[in-house]
Amino acid sequence: MGYEIDQKDRLRALVGDWAGFAQGNDGIGLSERSVLGRSVWRYFSGGEIADLMERLFRATRQQGVPLSVAQRCDAPGMIRRYEMRIVPLSRGGLRITHVPRGVTPCGPVTPGHPVWHTKPLERCAVCCDYKLGERWQMVPLGERQLPEVDHYTVCPKCRARAEAAMGATGR
Ligand SMILES: [Zn+2]
Repeated sequence: MGYEIDQKDRLRALVGDWAGFAQGNDGIGLSERSVLGRSVWRYFSGGEIADLMERLFRATRQQGVPLSVAQRCDAPGMIRRYEMRIVPLSRGGLRITHVPRGVTPCGPVTPGHPVWHTKPLERCAVCCDYKLGERWQMVPLGERQLPEVDHYTVCPKCRARAEAAMGATGR
């Protein structure tokens, strides 16, 4: 599943089963007709993730070789691991795909867990970890109703992985 953008970062194609993905993620209704031609930047949920993606896109275009970064995109009751692949296309285009790397079912966490009581609640937009106190933690959440996130950002681990991916291709 993924998308293609042109040299000006406008969506020019959706790749794979977006309808099935939307069903697994309450409320995200994406249809090809509604998004094509729009800037991809309106679909990122925070400044830090947009900055990182912008650098990954630029590195892929400059180096002309694919980049990969591990990511997660959970749904209620499911931990879903992916590899995000960014592949350069002709004329400055890019294809970004999220390749499934495994799904683990998970049950509800206790109501006393800090994830329900941390304010403001920060979450990594790449790996789905939550910042609880000074630590970033993976919290498998089985609940239909997930805690409300105040700010999506990029955790240090994912930032380091992305830097390594960009460096590994000879920047
Ligand atoms: Zn992360």
